Amino acid sequence: EAARRKVAGYINAEYNHEVIFTRGTTESVNLVAYTFGEKFVRPGDEVIVSQLEHHSNFVPWQQMCLRRGATLRLLPFDEHGELDLLLFDSLLNEKTRLVAVNHVSNSLGTVNPVGEIIRLAHAHDVPVLVDAAQSVQHLEHDVRSLDTDFYVFSGHKMYGPMGIGVFYGKEKWLEVLPPFMSGGEMIDTVTPEKVTFNVLPFKFEAGTPNVAEAIGLGAASDYLQQFDQAELQKYEEDLLAYGLTLLAEIPDLVIYGSPKHRSSILPFNVSGIQHYDMGVLLDSMGIAVRTGQHCTQPIMDALRISGTVRASLALYNDRADLEKLASGVRRVIKMLKR
Ligand code: PLP
Repeated sequence: EAARRKVAGYINAEYNHEVIFTRGTTESVNLVAYTFGEKFVRPGDEVIVSQLEHHSNFVPWQQMCLRRGATLRLLPFDEHGELDLLLFDSLLNEKTRLVAVNHVSNSLGTVNPVGEIIRLAHAHDVPVLVDAAQSVQHLEHDVRSLDTDFYVFSGHKMYGPMGIGVFYGKEKWLEVLPPFMSGGEMIDTVTPEKVTFNVLPFKFEAGTPNVAEAIGLGAASDYLQQFDQAELQKYEEDLLAYGLTLLAEIPDLVIYGSPKHRSSILPFNVSGIQHYDMGVLLDSMGIAVRTGQHCTQPIMDALRISGTVRASLALYNDRADLEKLASGVRRVIKMLKR
């Protein structure tokens, strides 16, 4: 419970019991898709997701819509890799039941205007789920000032353990949503005929909890809270701008997306070189990047590419890392294009 208090403090939740421990973002999204879907989504209803989503904030909504006879509405990204708020507003209507969007795209690094999205959705009485997996460790993470209904993230993205994450929901939603899984812990009384459910947060935490990992996530929250958020953000933004400049100087290198506000992600390819080959060779030089679709096939399909090379920056990176990345990429180009 001390870990729960730390995490609740980190995201500035109004009540500690609004923080539910899950296995991660994926389970948190599924929790909302199942419980909200069962309670509030009827045939003909609509759910809006963006084209910038990680599969884990896309497939659960698609599957829920199929189960409930609802329609999934896709908010596309533009040539800069950004979402269009006017288009978003035009998708909202009396059939819209929920909006799910990430704060930062894990493939392009686009910082989405989630505050505006929430404001527009709330004007139609539509709740919003923010996937904060790629933002909670980099950007502002205040659920109250954001006024988000649901907020989900993973421990391993905030320098904590794997296999633990958070589902935050406003108390008013947690009171009305049915339990996701049932069994021990989430009950109050059980008879052969009837069960009454435990209070929050336990109503959503069936079974023996993952205590060690929750404590680890609490420690990660403490660790991150030692930094001044504005300073941290400024440091990471400068680093990203430096990395973008270094990469842009490399001939035949394409950087994907040109959003006005980007966070932490450097997505690129070099023409004529497979992203996978680039990744393996950079790895052999001690430079860790990820290659492929990054669990975002709809983005790759829209860009008509099979994948990208992606360098992800964090607070422990510095300018020397980026110089090493740029010279590593130049070296790979020499090796493969000779
Ligand atoms: N959403 C985003 C934006 C992510 O970057 C990730 C992880 O890569 C996820 C969701 C899924 O997180 P997890 O696999 O921890 O459930």
